[in-house]
Amino acid sequence: MGWQIAIDGPAGAGKSSVAKSIAKKLNLIYIDTGAMYRAAALKAINLGINLSNEDEYKFLYDTSIRFNEEGHVLLDGEDVSSLIRTVEVSNAASYASTFGLVRTRLVSEQQKIASDNNVIMDGRDIGTVVLKNANLKIFLTASLDERTRRRMKEREEKNQEVFSFEDTKKEIEARDYQDSHRAISPLTKADDAVEIDTSNLSIEDVINKIMSLVSERGYSMENLEQNLEQKQEELEKEEETKEVSETLAEETPVEEAPVEETAAEEPAEEAAEEAPVEDEEAPAEDAPSKAKYHELQVVIGTVVKIIPAKPETKRGDKVFPAKEEKALIELEDGTQGYLSVKDEAELAEGEELFDKYIEGDEVEVAIKRIFPDGGKMVFSTALVAKKHKLEALEDFVNSRPVIKVKVVKNVDVGLLTKYEEFSCLIPKKPKSLLSLTDEEIEGLIGKEIEVVPVRIDYSRIRIICNQTAAVQQKAKAEKKDFLASLAEGQVYEGTVKNIEKYGAFVDIGFGVEGLLHVSEIDHNRVFKVEKVLNVGDTVKVQIIKLEKDHIGLSRKSLIPNFFGDFVNANEVGKVVSGKVVDIRDAGLTVELAENVNGFLPKSEYSWDNDANINEEVKLDDTVEAKIIEIDVNKKRIILSKKQLTENPWEKLTVKVNDIVDVTVLKALDNGFKVQLGEVTGYLPKASIRSRAADSIQAGEVLKTKVRIFDAAKGRLVVNMNEAEERVERENYSKYMKAQDKISNTLGDYLKEKK
Ligand code: C5P
Repeated sequence: MGWQIAIDGPAGAGKSSVAKSIAKKLNLIYIDTGAMYRAAALKAINLGINLSNEDEYKFLYDTSIRFNEEGHVLLDGEDVSSLIRTVEVSNAASYASTFGLVRTRLVSEQQKIASDNNVIMDGRDIGTVVLKNANLKIFLTASLDERTRRRMKEREEKNQEVFSFEDTKKEIEARDYQDSHRAISPLTKADDAVEIDTSNLSIEDVINKIMSLVSERGYSMENLEQNLEQKQEELEKEEETKEVSETLAEETPVEEAPVEETAAEEPAEEAAEEAPVEDEEAPAEDAPSKAKYHELQVVIGTVVKIIPAKPETKRGDKVFPAKEEKALIELEDGTQGYLSVKDEAELAEGEELFDKYIEGDEVEVAIKRIFPDGGKMVFSTALVAKKHKLEALEDFVNSRPVIKVKVVKNVDVGLLTKYEEFSCLIPKKPKSLLSLTDEEIEGLIGKEIEVVPVRIDYSRIRIICNQTAAVQQKAKAEKKDFLASLAEGQVYEGTVKNIEKYGAFVDIGFGVEGLLHVSEIDHNRVFKVEKVLNVGDTVKVQIIKLEKDHIGLSRKSLIPNFFGDFVNANEVGKVVSGKVVDIRDAGLTVELAENVNGFLPKSEYSWDNDANINEEVKLDDTVEAKIIEIDVNKKRIILSKKQLTENPWEKLTVKVNDIVDVTVLKALDNGFKVQLGEVTGYLPKASIRSRAADSIQAGEVLKTKVRIFDAAKGRLVVNMNEAEERVERENYSKYMKAQDKISNTLGDYLKEKK
């Protein structure tokens, strides 16, 4: 995160003039967030959307709002800086900014800019929402009259239309009201913001005030770097003694540590080697002069003499170890130290210090070790050579490449590593430079990690590195590669980052987010996103739209659409078959395809209303039926089996009162089920008088009269008595017609009949 200054306040308080000027002074990027809302509103007006319909602002997902180097606003690449300053756009911006969709979209853009840069932003919700952790928050106000005057002056200066004082005042007042009373992110002063009433202050006064707040917090950009470095150095100094010995321990094995000698050439004094700290040539008064020296400091000295190597010697039982050749070097103030062969940078094979130095030579040495108790210092030209090599690396280091360093040791002050022959330190403070935990470091000792060199620390002859930056650079590069690899149709396991009314933002990798619109979540309509997805959920999504600033995702495209596929392949009227998976009084459920069921209502099973589906069908039977209804919204398919055959009722040409022969199918409680043609009907027992009802057998054909015939409802009721009476009557009339005796009576007829 860079440095952030947030400036909020009502219209005309002077936010933008102040922010611009501070940005220049402190080398910050100025972001006029109001201009972003204005640009959004301008596009809304140009598109002719309904400004009060939040949904119609979705065009913002395909809209780019940027600032160029001069701070001009680019809307989809076009400079609209002056077009957005009209009253119409001001009012539309204030209106548009009340919608969550608009705010979310722009706030995320603003935060993105702030994450990569040092910024000063002005607006209405900067301190409260956009930059909640800004280093400095300012709330600028001024009286309404003063703000009105300023707005009029500004318009005049910009050659814009200037309205009367009263009209301008009303316009500002209305906008202030709307901005501070909206439901989402209304204009308010952040608790930790410094309020400045600019009514009676000149712009310079305001700028000075803010600059002093800035420097109070030590935030000038130049100071910033210095502060950081200073802090760094203080910290390093604190740990210096400890760390140097640790660093050197890496380079100088303890057993090889140079031993302070007294006059080595005097064998009589060799005994003093056993008490090496006693150094007559470095008397106690040397100590104060040494205070100006520190380890690894590069100094010029003069070769006093070369002390030849000595083989191991024995005197009595005492063994005096071998001594290597060394040069005694004296600094300007008389302080002395030794340069031994192993610390010498340039001795060729077989060469000795004698070959290289003669008394009186000036030599540049680094102080490798100081003995506080007054012993002679240890000098090194090898370290000086290293320092020079580091100087040659300056440009390379300044180009901030990502380099691989070998992890050597975890010490209090930081992580010691090695790059080629150079020591590197990744300081632990500030914390931002090292993002590895101590446990992680433990497993990395001896291994390589990536870092970005920050600077060369010449005083310590090493490179200061930033490991976090390498991680970030890597992440950035990976994100870039990832973005370049995206294509429509690709599928990702994403993580839900944010839920909105209109959908969910899903991170599909490397922090790249796409919008899973509510309509793309499922084949079934989703009314509330939260019912299906929660923040943190993993969700498989497919890219269905890929634009510069918008990635459209779909979840439903990856879920088989059983119902949809079935409906696409089948239509009303089509005959299908399936397995019976459920039988109820109301009808049958038939599995038509994987996860697709149809319902066959009882009334559609057979033309025979009395058909008993429980007797006729078993689970797992296959039935064939015709689709008679498809309801896509309710995901319902209604089937009919009876409509597979012609309606037998329609074929039947009988009328009420017709005499018909019916065949008895079976006895029911109060009558008989009878068949007429292809349909069945009912013969009530009560309509049978001529014989005992229980003498009637299935299969018998009976003469009956049609009492009820309703083809539409499939109802037929017949009556036997009435049929018999009718037949009798007809026979009687036939008999009568056949006699010529006028006196014939019914009695005669019955006698005759007998
Ligand atoms: O600052 P400026 O007057 O250009 O802002 C135009 C409008 O944009 C404001 O009236 C306000 O409604 C809206 N805005 C906002 N949040 C911001 C900046 C501006 O709501 N951070």
